[in-house]
Amino acid sequence: SALLSVNNLTASVDEKTILHAVNLSVNAGETHVLMGPNGAGKSTMGHVIMGDPVYTVNDGSITFDGADITELSCDKRSRAGLFLSFQAPVEIPGVPLSSFLRATIAGRPGLEMKGKEFRRRVKELAAQLDMDTAYLNRELGVGFSGGEKKKVEMLQLLLLQPKLAILDETDSGLDVDALSVVSRGMDAYRTSCDGSLVIITHNTRILEHLEVDRVHVMVGGRIVREDDASLIPWIDEHGFESFEREAADAA
Ligand code: ADP
Ligand code: MG
Ligand code: MG
Repeated sequence: SALLSVNNLTASVDEKTILHAVNLSVNAGETHVLMGPNGAGKSTMGHVIMGDPVYTVNDGSITFDGADITELSCDKRSRAGLFLSFQAPVEIPGVPLSSFLRATIAGRPGLEMKGKEFRRRVKELAAQLDMDTAYLNRELGVGFSGGEKKKVEMLQLLLLQPKLAILDETDSGLDVDALSVVSRGMDAYRTSCDGSLVIITHNTRILEHLEVDRVHVMVGGRIVREDDASLIPWIDEHGFESFEREAADAA
């Protein structure tokens, strides 16, 4: 059975329905891509799967690793092995990045390490991401660029080794540096723990080096198309207009 299964999920915020009877099924070790125009509901989907309390689930269910998680808190979902990249880490002047990373894995069975082992592990990961280790002593979030924020996300991902990671690339363009960090991070994650990925993006460049199993297109809070990786170059060429037109006709 699937690792993650989103079944007929309808979700809203402030009485406004955003996701309409959405289905998504991801098996262990698979890489899925969720694409769609701005405002389609992609980020909402990520947040609802992660249990963001801002959103209300009105109908349907989410199962993960054999359990119904629809009612679980975000923290419990995280402990069950779900991960959602967050866009803007809080700024905490005076707290170095390494301490923040240490806190992310604190109290996690199987992930806790002694200080020395932790430092060795983080250095190893930084090298994998082609990051300067001096960066680990920087204050958290203070003046971080988009690329630097991505590095923090990728370090967290690789430290936590979740069973399934949802990476929301947002609509803000990533510079070349950030793109390379994200690609390296995804590669390292896939090879080190054979985790599943759901990548939310409209930047298909980020997918170039990745073996994608399944592509889902979302328009107006509905999944309107599912296909294999061949859909990516097609979308590159044609965009989402035909999907948007079909959705408008159906409404
Ligand atoms: P995408 O990530 O595909 O660009 P979003 O999931 O961010 O789309 O947004 C989908 C729709 O839901 C938009 O109309 C957006 O304004 C609305 N929305 C999402 N989150 C909230 C929120 N917390 N409060 C109010 N509206 C929201
Ligand atoms: Mg968007
Ligand atoms: Mg979004």
